[in-house]
Amino acid sequence: MLYIGIDFGGTKIEAAALDENGQYLARERRPNPGSYDAAIVTIRELVESVEHQARISAGMRSVQVPGIGIGAPGSPSPRTGIIRNSNATWLNGRAFRDDLEVALERPVRLTNDANCLALSEAMDGAAAGCHSVAAIIIGTGCGGGLVAGQRLIDGANGLAGEIGHMSLPWPASDETPGPACWCGQRGCIETWVSGTGFARDFQAQTGRALKSEEIITLMREGDQGAIEAFERLLSRLGRTVAAITNLFDPDAFVFGGGLSNVAELYERLPAYVNSYVFSDHWEAKLVPARWGDTSGVRGAAYLWRQGTALAPEVPTFAGA
Ligand SMILES: [Zn+2]
Repeated sequence: MLYIGIDFGGTKIEAAALDENGQYLARERRPNPGSYDAAIVTIRELVESVEHQARISAGMRSVQVPGIGIGAPGSPSPRTGIIRNSNATWLNGRAFRDDLEVALERPVRLTNDANCLALSEAMDGAAAGCHSVAAIIIGTGCGGGLVAGQRLIDGANGLAGEIGHMSLPWPASDETPGPACWCGQRGCIETWVSGTGFARDFQAQTGRALKSEEIITLMREGDQGAIEAFERLLSRLGRTVAAITNLFDPDAFVFGGGLSNVAELYERLPAYVNSYVFSDHWEAKLVPARWGDTSGVRGAAYLWRQGTALAPEVPTFAGA
């Protein structure tokens, strides 16, 4: 089998062809043309190109491609493939999957980019070998995805794992009702547990407008305001992990996004989770994502090989 995935980003579209062992046979990126019809043409050309390269370079002329996987921003409806809540607003309301199936003349599976990260990390990433995995992406916003038995849990409405738009658990009096969220609610986890939320909280308490990575640097230099802001972030993320544990109790939590690179998070978080989880003993793996930016395209390709375990260590592709 040959697995082809597309990572549909706001500025770039990337395609990759992977072999049975998760090795790249071909990868290609093009700018996102920024309009619907042109984007569909770009995807069709990218799929043709990586498939051609993989078949030629890897000598895989007769190998089957089960279908094409796509990771896209927003929340595609699993029934219709109609995109909701995408920051590429010209995708919203479009039957993206159906239109791609027509253009590509083959079956297409479509999910959001956070789900792609969760699947990619559960298949052969930081949580390889774990039965159940929750991914939490702490970037500009807060996304998430759930995997069990190496299968993505999409949900009846495609909403499973939308962690960022659950309410902050066990809020203190000064955390409620919480900041307004772009989704229309107040106090969503994303308004607190995200690079943006962290910076907003730091500014509200100290009056200083800084980027999240600058606050982390200050925290390491001993700045009291930054230390306290990081403690509040740990508490909020710890409560989020505890709430997910009470619902799903995964073997592993994989963190993606800019703030997942903060090493202190992994040392300090378990104490916060322990104070909220409904048990006197809790244990789970807390790890940063292995594949980083490439998890989108890998997870998209793996939409066609879910439920089949990969070898935890990927052998090097020898060529043909
Ligand atoms: Zn929200």
